[in-house]
Amino acid sequence: MQKIDFIIVGQGLAGSILALDLLKLNKSVLIIDNATLSKSSRVAAGIYNPIVFKRLTQSWMADKTLPVMFDFFKEAEKLFNTKLIYPTKIARVFASGEEEALWKKKAVNELSDFIEAEVHSPSGEYAFLHNNYGFVSQAGYIDVTGFLSHTLSYLEQHKAYLNETFSYEDIAINGYEITYKDYSCSKLIFCEGHLATKNPFFKELKFKPAKGEVLTIYCEELNTTSILNKDFFILPLPEAHHFKVGATYNWDDLTDTISNEAKQTLTDKLNALLPFSYKVINQQAGVRPATIDRRPVMGNHPTHKNMFLFNGFGTKAVMLVPYFSKHFCSFIENKSELFRDIDVKRFYA
Ligand SMILES: Cc1cc2nc3c(=O)[nH]c(=O)nc-3n(C[C@H](O)[C@H](O)[C@H](O)COP(=O)(O)OP(=O)(O)OC[C@H]3O[C@@H](n4cnc5c(N)ncnc54)[C@H](O)[C@@H]3O)c2cc1C
Repeated sequence: MQKIDFIIVGQGLAGSILALDLLKLNKSVLIIDNATLSKSSRVAAGIYNPIVFKRLTQSWMADKTLPVMFDFFKEAEKLFNTKLIYPTKIARVFASGEEEALWKKKAVNELSDFIEAEVHSPSGEYAFLHNNYGFVSQAGYIDVTGFLSHTLSYLEQHKAYLNETFSYEDIAINGYEITYKDYSCSKLIFCEGHLATKNPFFKELKFKPAKGEVLTIYCEELNTTSILNKDFFILPLPEAHHFKVGATYNWDDLTDTISNEAKQTLTDKLNALLPFSYKVINQQAGVRPATIDRRPVMGNHPTHKNMFLFNGFGTKAVMLVPYFSKHFCSFIENKSELFRDIDVKRFYA
């Protein structure tokens, strides 16, 4: 029997970031993952955006989560000797004169750290737009796929990765020790994304998963260097004239299968905005592990105190996971309590 401090189930963004933080704390870790089961992190655009456009407010805790996100991914860039952070402004195309007026007001008040006060009319690389636009300055994207594959190699080098489907029936709990097949650990942490809905130990959780789809397009005439946002996004990729376009929301079909409806929705939006021809060269789908109150969820099992979950990162995961991984590590080390908003206990009350 091999003894390990932590077994983590799932190598999406949640499991990966948590594993790296625990390894940094000199803990021994084993991640068990079957990457073919759920693709949310692998299809995510990885955009970080401190603004909620619908209400033009700061995104939940962005002032706290953004600095931790930068620190985490800068360290990961050094560890893996690769580029992961792509600072890229977001050009928000205003839907109305009211939105533009509110933007100008908030840019010199509560959102001055995040958005620029100057409003632009269509010109230069944005000459094809019909409406004015403003820039979110502290924005960009993380190369999530690159991060996950570097993390996987790193875990393999440290003999901390097992490629298999975790079977819940193979868990045995003996007081403060949990065994799984040939492994024994003092703490077991579930990070299965939306497949947590199949976890028999955390049945009370209230998830509201949302399928999302994205396209990759090639457009010779589009030369935008910022992420365009209207009621969808067009993200310029490092490869010339390649863009990621997304994303859709579907709460009924919770499969990772791409659909014609999503392709149609996104191409309709593209056709309404772009006067250029383009080619769709890829389409991907994943299911976001969102909760009913749209907050992350973490903590331990009500009876098995050394069994935990770290989940619920349905949106804004690249900003939230690094911050909450540190918060969660401090909790499992008995150094602090969890914030009430994200504690799993809110679903047991
Ligand atoms: C289309 C789309 C676009 C998005 N865009 C953005 C964005 O721009 N910015 C942003 O911040 N967020 C975005 N997100 C959201 C976000 O990235 C994800 O919700 C988040 O990464 C979820 O990570 P996770 O680790 O919790 O889950 P997952 O990525 O689903 O990872 C869970 C892992 O656990 C594995 N697993 C599950 N059960 C088992 C089992 N029994 N045995 C073994 N392995 C198992 C799965 O296969 C998977 O590898 C987007 C999501 C989607 C779908």
